[in-house]
Amino acid sequence: MYLVGLTGGIASGKSTVSSMLRELGCPIVDADVVARKVVEPRSLAHSRIVFHFGREILLENGEIDRQKLGRIVFADADKRKLLNSITHPEIHREMFKQIIYYFLRGFRYIVLDVPLLFETRKLTQFLNHTVVVYCDPATQLSRLMLRDGLTQEEVEQRLAAQMPLNEKRGLASHVIENSGSREDTHRQVLRLHTKLEDSMDFLLVRVLAVAATAGLGGVLLYAAKMIFS
Ligand code: ADP
Repeated sequence: MYLVGLTGGIASGKSTVSSMLRELGCPIVDADVVARKVVEPRSLAHSRIVFHFGREILLENGEIDRQKLGRIVFADADKRKLLNSITHPEIHREMFKQIIYYFLRGFRYIVLDVPLLFETRKLTQFLNHTVVVYCDPATQLSRLMLRDGLTQEEVEQRLAAQMPLNEKRGLASHVIENSGSREDTHRQVLRLHTKLEDSMDFLLVRVLAVAATAGLGGVLLYAAKMIFS
């Protein structure tokens, strides 16, 4: 098993590529889904957030009002740090759990779908490959306006707040060029999937896991011999 990071810019087509990979049977660990899951009511992160930010950041149904909380931490770096210190360990633990689950099911590679992969850089050291979904700036602008119903000015503000897609493209080991049709993107995704499936990178972790299991077995056997002899 090995890990592949998938990222992109806002509306560059990351979700589109992620669902194509899912349709091919790839296991996807989606950082956005995990981030929502770890703050669900009755979770540890939920109660810690309420403790620090007050009940006024809750919706009527008890869930966290993500937009309200987002506005608070966007305007205050210390509060942002505090929120991250609550959520990040929980997010990493949940992602790790999902990776182990897929590892035990014998998948060759697991995709980590992480929007800010290159901005935070926390996960890159664990990845064998990184994939950036790219589209040219004009296409990105018009798709974003269309999808989110934003004005050109609002779109430009959002794009300016992110690492430029060109820069991300330079950091990736694979690029999916999504400026064209969905069919064209689908062909590239198929090629990438074949390449990743054919890669021998998965062997190392399997060999290490077998060695660790065998080593543990040996230690237990030795201990049993010592105790019962
Ligand atoms: P991201 O997840 O990177 O924000 P999405 O996958 O949601 O981006 O794509 C942004 C928008 O562009 C969506 O409305 C999607 O349906 C559309 N889109 C994505 N790829 C293509 C494509 N190749 N051709 C036409 N529209 C596309």
